[in-house]
Amino acid sequence: MKIEDLPEDQLADLMRRYYDGEKVGELIEAFGLDVKPSQLVSTFPPERLPEPCRQCGGTMIRPRVGRSSYSAESLSRCELCGHFDAPGHSWRRCSCEACADEEIKATQAREFEIVDVIDAYVRKCELAPVSLADLTIRQRIYLAALATAYADEDLRVLLHVGVEQTKMPPVAPRSADVISMIRELWSAGAIGLMRNSPRSAFDIEQKPGHPPEVVGVIPSEVIWEIQIVDVDRSAILIPNCTPTIDEALILWHEMSQSEALAYLESERDRYGIDAVAGDKTSAIIREIVEKYSTAETQCLVWMAMRDLFAAMQERYMNRRHVGNSLPVFIKNKFEHYQAKKYDPKQFDRRGKQSIVSQLLYNHVLGIGENGFTLRPTTENLNPPAACA
Ligand SMILES: [Zn+2]
Ligand SMILES: [Zn+2]
Repeated sequence: MKIEDLPEDQLADLMRRYYDGEKVGELIEAFGLDVKPSQLVSTFPPERLPEPCRQCGGTMIRPRVGRSSYSAESLSRCELCGHFDAPGHSWRRCSCEACADEEIKATQAREFEIVDVIDAYVRKCELAPVSLADLTIRQRIYLAALATAYADEDLRVLLHVGVEQTKMPPVAPRSADVISMIRELWSAGAIGLMRNSPRSAFDIEQKPGHPPEVVGVIPSEVIWEIQIVDVDRSAILIPNCTPTIDEALILWHEMSQSEALAYLESERDRYGIDAVAGDKTSAIIREIVEKYSTAETQCLVWMAMRDLFAAMQERYMNRRHVGNSLPVFIKNKFEHYQAKKYDPKQFDRRGKQSIVSQLLYNHVLGIGENGFTLRPTTENLNPPAACA
């Protein structure tokens, strides 16, 4: 006999006795069933669960499991709409129409939450607009350089900041300098985040169990608003300001340091030495440019790099060691030249002069290419640092 042919009361009796632990073989014989012992459970009608389908209210059914099975929680499915629940199987997700709809709504809710989080972040970062006169000379130069490269016609916004344009000179000696320029102008209120910057401009993190959070911005993706109140906006492009001698020397040192570091980085790349110019290297370069011109500093860097590379070639230094030794090699060269009162050779500028360098040397300091070739001294700030 087949199990479907058993009267209801006998079927109930069979199932009760099975789950009570009677031997399968004996049960099959007692009920005269035509089924293999291993298949008996699978022929039982499914269990009808008391809890209705949460999507449509239909009856949820669950296939019977063997009495020795560990997974008592097998998959239950709605008779009516096909929705299933799979407790203990979090990787199995129902994709019935109602569940798919729920998923879309949850995604939309997350999107709205992220929009709110971005809005709150932009509001939190908001600073009052400033007048050009409120900015330091350095900030005026930075703003002019960024506006020259990235501003729209009306000088209202900066777009794609940091993205190199092939026909234009670079904005600053190093791409890291562009990021510092942005940070400085942003914290001064000279530029600010536009609310309609694309989603990609915001670095969003979400830790499990926490709401999403903006942890930073991607400067090149942000639409930066130029928050300058001055009526004559064209003044943004021309940093008309007169530094004192001390200020002029500081600006000169800073630019020389950036340009020398840019040279160092390009030499490092040429030799395939993978070391970042960290604080130690920056500090020693700063020390050098206060004594020598950028052109001479490049020569010292070149010699240090050559010696390092030779040491590496002779195999008593590996690449990592070379990177770490770079500041020491440069410092030794510098101290040797200082002690012997040698003049390093003048090395030519490599590549195009950056916009920020042109603005500083040609416009604000009025020393032109002397900024690169002369040592930064008060006497060499001649003609006197004055403009406007
Ligand atoms: Zn259902
Ligand atoms: Zn479902």
